[in-house]
Amino acid sequence: MENIQVNLHCHTERCKHAEGKVREYCQKAVEQGLKILGISDHSPFPDNRLSVIKMLYSELEEYRQEIEDARAEFPELTILAGLEVDYDDDYPLDFYQREFKERLDLDYLITGVHYVRDASGKAIFPGNNAHASMEIVRKFIDKALFLLKSGIFEFMAHPDMIGASIDRWTPEIADLFSQVIQTSIDYKMPLEINAYGLRKPMYDYPDGRRHLYPWRPFWQLAAKAGIPCVISSDAHKPVDVCGNMPDVFAIAQELGIPCINAAIAERIIQRRKQ
Ligand SMILES: [Zn+2]
Ligand SMILES: [Zn+2]
Repeated sequence: MENIQVNLHCHTERCKHAEGKVREYCQKAVEQGLKILGISDHSPFPDNRLSVIKMLYSELEEYRQEIEDARAEFPELTILAGLEVDYDDDYPLDFYQREFKERLDLDYLITGVHYVRDASGKAIFPGNNAHASMEIVRKFIDKALFLLKSGIFEFMAHPDMIGASIDRWTPEIADLFSQVIQTSIDYKMPLEINAYGLRKPMYDYPDGRRHLYPWRPFWQLAAKAGIPCVISSDAHKPVDVCGNMPDVFAIAQELGIPCINAAIAERIIQRRKQ
């Protein structure tokens, strides 16, 4: 049970596509029996690109302070300060480490691939069973592999999200996702089973009706490789602070994938004390 008392992935109203302040997530976390809550809103860029789905860069200090204030208000809850980082390669990796972890003194960073850029530089977001070309799928995988190797993130959120834009599981798709799983093993960077997809509608695909994510064949492959996972609600509303975590925990259990939420949180807490 201890793994579902730890959620390291939730958002706030600052990203403009979620609701609620940090303190409201913490309040619900206490009510719903969480022991450790990590706040991980979407990271902004200094030029405020994509700011329709992110806080402004100038809000980062306020965001950090809001987490500090919640710590004072809810001493019974361990609150960890984080960000879910979007990476664009015109900012080097060192920038994310320096600006977020060091300057803002955050406890941890997670990452996830939410978009890739096409040849013209336009951001392409997967989802809602929009069909992605194999070129876009490969770009998504390449970005994931790069971030898995980067060494600055605690885990990778929703590695199977691109499945929302893929018609069906094929040997080529299996091969690409095998690279993600193998890199997760080689670089000791865990992958997350993300419960947010379970709160979104199901869609009809050529291979049947399914959620956008988690994508089952991906996690079957992960189970075969023997990797552990992190489970998260990826809450975008305070009431969902633990949303569908028992469901993703059940998927992990059924497939025999160990959950390491508690161990990851412990590692972050130990590092904070140093
Ligand atoms: Zn995400
Ligand atoms: Zn998220």
